[in-house]
Amino acid sequence: MAVSSLPSSALFEAIVQGGAAVQRRGMAKAITLLESTRADHRDQADALLTQLLSQTGRSFRLGISGVPGVGKSTFIEALGLHLIGQGHRVAVLAVDPSSSISGGSILGDKTRMEHLSVHPQAYIRPSPSSGTLGGVAEKTRESMLVCEAAGYDVVIVETVGVGQSETAVANMTDMFVLLQLPNAGDDLQAIKKGVMELADLVVINKADLDASAATRAEAQITSALRLLGLHGHPDHAHHVETLWHPQVVQISALHNRGVDAFWAKVSEFRDLQTRNGKLAARRQQQALSWMWERIDAGLKHAFKHHEAVRDLLPGLTAQVVSGQLPASTAARQLLQLASVMSGGDAARPSRSETAASSGMR
Ligand code: GDP
Repeated sequence: MAVSSLPSSALFEAIVQGGAAVQRRGMAKAITLLESTRADHRDQADALLTQLLSQTGRSFRLGISGVPGVGKSTFIEALGLHLIGQGHRVAVLAVDPSSSISGGSILGDKTRMEHLSVHPQAYIRPSPSSGTLGGVAEKTRESMLVCEAAGYDVVIVETVGVGQSETAVANMTDMFVLLQLPNAGDDLQAIKKGVMELADLVVINKADLDASAATRAEAQITSALRLLGLHGHPDHAHHVETLWHPQVVQISALHNRGVDAFWAKVSEFRDLQTRNGKLAARRQQQALSWMWERIDAGLKHAFKHHEAVRDLLPGLTAQVVSGQLPASTAARQLLQLASVMSGGDAARPSRSETAASSGMR
């Protein structure tokens, strides 16, 4: 697709005001542009995103995670169709951590969400297929803004149970939901603690398979969440009514049971977080943390591509590995080489630094 054939203002018009077909094409072009690694495309994408920003922020951003087979696509299809039935427009995006490792895909290689994917009120986009996890997540986050500007008022971002990708998704959404199997309660150890701490709501899917196991899991996860909550908010006795406490619900996505109760919980969360200001605070904090995440990534990229660094990195790496040079000294020397790190004029290490490091050997 010739992504550069349209100026960003034309894409903006297509996305925000276009009729259904024009809008869909505009979104696809915009997202392709965002995912491009060409510098001129990046400039266009930045211009477009800046324009789109005023049209964003009105959607609800829902993160959903769980291990392969837990029923994510079945659930998202049921939820999406339920929401469209209520008059919503639903976008589904994904962060596939495997794409950054293998170029393969955990999320995308089967026919998923058969009915939702062809619905005119739904927009489904698979995970960007290459790059670092941070890069993949960032492109998904930007695609989310495109969907919002196009009027999709519920944006679902899906990922699989790999700690880092879950953190990335929790950090771009208003609410993070963890899907579990009914036997999860029997093996709480298996639920990574860090991920449990991210969850605003835990959903036990496939409750139809074993009702008593599901009820047991609900009780066990509820008390685990309560413990985490107590640790997280030592003074929350004073704020009991105004703070959200992570909860657990049972559903059966395959049989469309519990989807409405799930959405009622989401609405409850959204109302409370809006009243107590946490929703806005979470988005502000997310925007800043994304900015810094991108600065970190950009600096690292510039550093690794810096000519002097590229020349010296192999030698210094070998010295660190063989124990001739302290790691921190090597890092300091390399940082000084890269002018981007030190304000522009440090093309070579200062004399004192060189002396200090040779003295260490
Ligand atoms: P994903 O890998 O997390 O996206 O999981 P899928 O949605 O592909 O579901 C995996 C399998 O579990 C499929 O065969 C589904 O039909 C099945 N499944 C999903 N939800 C339920 C449920 O609520 N009950 C039962 N019995 N099976 C389900």
